[in-house]
Amino acid sequence: MKLNELTIKQASEKLAKGEITSVELTKACLARIKEIDGKIKACLTVCEKEALDEAKAADERIAKGEKGNLLGIPYIAKDNILTKGIRTTAASKILENYIAPFDATIIKKLKEAGAVLLAKSNLDEFAHGASTENSAFGPTHNPWDLERVPGGSSGGSAAAVASDMCLFALGTDTGGSIRCPASFCGVVGLKPTYGRSSRFGLMAMTSSTDVPGPLTKTVEDAGLVLSTIAGNDKNDATTPDVEVPSFSENLEKSLKGLKIGCPEEYFGQGLEPEVKKAVEEAIKKLEELGAKIIPIRLPYSKYGIPVYYIITPSEISSNLAKFDGIRFGFSSEEAKDLQEIYAKSRGQGFGPEAKRRIMLGTYALSAGYYDAYYLQAQKVRTKIKEELDSELEKLDAIITPTQPSPAFRIGECSNDPLKMYLEDIFVTGASLAGLPAISVPCGFSEGLPIGMQLIGKRFDEEMILNIAHNYQKNTDWHLQKPKI
Ligand code: GLN
Repeated sequence: MKLNELTIKQASEKLAKGEITSVELTKACLARIKEIDGKIKACLTVCEKEALDEAKAADERIAKGEKGNLLGIPYIAKDNILTKGIRTTAASKILENYIAPFDATIIKKLKEAGAVLLAKSNLDEFAHGASTENSAFGPTHNPWDLERVPGGSSGGSAAAVASDMCLFALGTDTGGSIRCPASFCGVVGLKPTYGRSSRFGLMAMTSSTDVPGPLTKTVEDAGLVLSTIAGNDKNDATTPDVEVPSFSENLEKSLKGLKIGCPEEYFGQGLEPEVKKAVEEAIKKLEELGAKIIPIRLPYSKYGIPVYYIITPSEISSNLAKFDGIRFGFSSEEAKDLQEIYAKSRGQGFGPEAKRRIMLGTYALSAGYYDAYYLQAQKVRTKIKEELDSELEKLDAIITPTQPSPAFRIGECSNDPLKMYLEDIFVTGASLAGLPAISVPCGFSEGLPIGMQLIGKRFDEEMILNIAHNYQKNTDWHLQKPKI
């Protein structure tokens, strides 16, 4: 096995025993990026020199006897997460040459833990999308089939993990953007509870649902990363001061007697038969392992997409207002007066999807329509949240497919925004309700990975990690690799 193919768990054991060094591990990842990223296009910026310096520093810490799960482990961060001194573009022309002036809290925590930042990964511009085609710098390709999308918006991160360019990657999930690409690329994607991991230093999309989290090769690794990045942050008032458990401790617990809800609404119309079959097989496996599967109804779930696509553009229209051609990034040279600076910089700097969302959001928030759209959407959002919370009171977790189909072809949905939005049908509920959710590989359809989703109670990531880990110990879907 090549070093870049190791999981975090395997690599950190080898590092601790002195069998390998972080510099060797980092070089193996950088070599893999050079070898295949011309085809996949997962990375927007590779920080080779900085990575090797960080790896050397990690090796020195290890030599002094320091231990740590992420010490010396190379990773890639989505390019909407600020990294001090390193270009951070959000895959937008408006920030093409933007150098971040400080580290996001989660990056700071990873630095302190000794993880090594290799590169910044491609995404849909400002994380608006489900395919990574909305990047100003071109799409990322799915390692399982280069003609297909990797999912989005953390598509670069998922493709990088799936093709072993790194040991793990960071993504952000606003309405599925960690889980969707994890499912399309056959890796693990964990969206923590809203507020579990700090948003400070993330480029805000929808502040009321944004949350950063890991994309990894195994569930075990997702627990290791979450343990490091989670926790209260004085710079983000939505991170409560609750205890951060070690997310590795309870992975091995038996599933005997656990109650897992299976919502009828998530297995009906629009779900591809192969995906349905794979998730049903996974459900059988969980039953074999001792869990009790309980049929449930979530009648409000059908409003997830319409509610999400009112609230999200509304918050986006406000969050993107700061890109005015003066304070950040691109400023149009054609502008002759103040009004033109705004209009031309934004007009030339933002791509079509960002503009679409700014317009939709401005409309939904405008005086005459606020009550009819935004306020109404917030009311239904509360219903969706209450429904999920009340079902979860009786359950340990809920199981659903992650995506209605495997990865689609590049170009297939890009001219039909509505079709693209419908891809989020199973993932928006947990986002609107702020609940933790994980996507885990559970099969293939014609060579393309399929993912299942487990949704947990607020701040109970431990439970979904426990269930997902037991599933992985008894299946080998996550061990399959794309041939590239
Ligand atoms: N597909 C969703 C959207 O386009 C998810 C985005 C996200 O989670 N960042 O809004």
